[in-house]
Amino acid sequence: MGAGIGLANGFGQLGQFAFNQPVVAVCGDSTFFHAAIPGLINARFNNSNVLMVVLDNGGTAMTGFQPHPGSGTDALGRPAPVVEIEAICKAIGVEVRVRDPFEVDQAIEELYDMLQDGGAKVMVFRRKCFLIESREKAKPRVFVDPEKCIGDECGCARFCSRVFNCPGIIWDQEAKRAKIDEVVCTGCGVCATLCPQGAIIVEEG
Ligand code: SF4
Ligand code: SF4
Repeated sequence: MGAGIGLANGFGQLGQFAFNQPVVAVCGDSTFFHAAIPGLINARFNNSNVLMVVLDNGGTAMTGFQPHPGSGTDALGRPAPVVEIEAICKAIGVEVRVRDPFEVDQAIEELYDMLQDGGAKVMVFRRKCFLIESREKAKPRVFVDPEKCIGDECGCARFCSRVFNCPGIIWDQEAKRAKIDEVVCTGCGVCATLCPQGAIIVEEG
């Protein structure tokens, strides 16, 4: 709830004592507006070496998708002016980039790039939460092709269900294959981009 950037501020000062680990603080978009801005201003003011990652999913997901100043609607669903996270970052004077986290390779590359040099920076990973999107359009059907998924034999070490570990993917002990839990799966499709066998299929709804 916004405490991360305050702590990261302190860790971001430890380079002078030979601390050489990257310092990353994470918050959501709602928390950015409600609690993280003062910490970010302090990071800029103190020239801390901090990368702040804002996971912008378009709403206050943890408490029921209430709107926030970046949502574009107020609590009664009426249009409201959008306060842009990146505009606030620019006003504070920190470097800010906005990327789609579903472009996984590019997102990783950008993160590493931002960690190369010092100062306070912000990476906004922006992608509307699939629970919001699924209210607005039909959910894609996601399933594992049992012919293509060869489980442990593929050398993936059950990457999808053991490492990536989205709760929408389960391991079928009997079949020795991955399986999608359709109740939990939101249809986002990220797992399909990660399976080395191309065994996870996404069919648009
Ligand atoms: S679906 Fe893909 S990543 Fe998951 S166990 Fe099967 S082959 Fe491995
Ligand atoms: S499609 Fe998205 S929500 Fe569904 S199992 Fe894959 S990663 Fe999880």
